[in-house]
Amino acid sequence: MPNYQTARTVEDFQHNLAQVRARIAAACARVGRDPASVRLLPVSKTVEEARIRLAYQAGCRDFGENKVQEAHGKWEAMRDLADARWAVIGHLQTNKAKVVARFASEFQALDSLRVAETLDRHLQAEGRSLDVFVQVNTSNEESKFGLAPADVPAFIRQMPAFSALRVRGLMTLALFSDDANLVRPCFVSLRELRDRLRQDAPDGVALDELSMGMSGDYEMAVEEGATVVRVGQAIFGARRTADSEYWPGFAFSAR
Ligand SMILES: *Cc1c(COP(=O)(O)O)cnc(C)c1O
Repeated sequence: MPNYQTARTVEDFQHNLAQVRARIAAACARVGRDPASVRLLPVSKTVEEARIRLAYQAGCRDFGENKVQEAHGKWEAMRDLADARWAVIGHLQTNKAKVVARFASEFQALDSLRVAETLDRHLQAEGRSLDVFVQVNTSNEESKFGLAPADVPAFIRQMPAFSALRVRGLMTLALFSDDANLVRPCFVSLRELRDRLRQDAPDGVALDELSMGMSGDYEMAVEEGATVVRVGQAIFGARRTADSEYWPGFAFSAR
């Protein structure tokens, strides 16, 4: 793992953002993609308000958060940043769906019909709709959230019933490993699944987006077709919180 320095000034953020964008552009160039087809979603989990405000000053408008409580607290604390958008990218329990329906700009970890139903109901009540990504477990690890690839087609067919959910595409976390030969196949399988599903996607379900790639592997994800990369540490600096906080079982995985 590279040693990610903590960004403490607007200039630090500008530098880190420019570097990540340059690497995205280079990865695009390697495979003949337009860099404008890749959205960078900065992931601000565990980062305190003051540094998020610096990132905002450096140009960030989207912020990805893994946990609903934390995301909601930040949304409330920074409502003065009227054009900041808060993306929930982590597993959701149905009892938190109501909160997500109120403030989230998108939800990237849809993985059950119960959550879809609950979220849809609360969104209807709020008079809102929400962009969602279906999370797929491409690494075949017990510990990971997300649907098994084989269960995704039937799941997608249910989506038109939830009119407040705008399905945009698929999301995955690759295997946690330094071995590219293990990581890349996760990205390839998400893309291939998306391509297969797209052919007979139900009306109103767009399957254009692939949210895949984080600080350690976003360049590879872009080479394999990512349209959204979720990058935290390479922008904000290393996190102190162990990743097992977010992904149960992380400590036992390949890295
Ligand atoms: C934390 C997180 C990321 C970003 O990880 P970094 O190593 O900080 O880039 C991406 N996706 C999800 C779902 C996360 O929880």
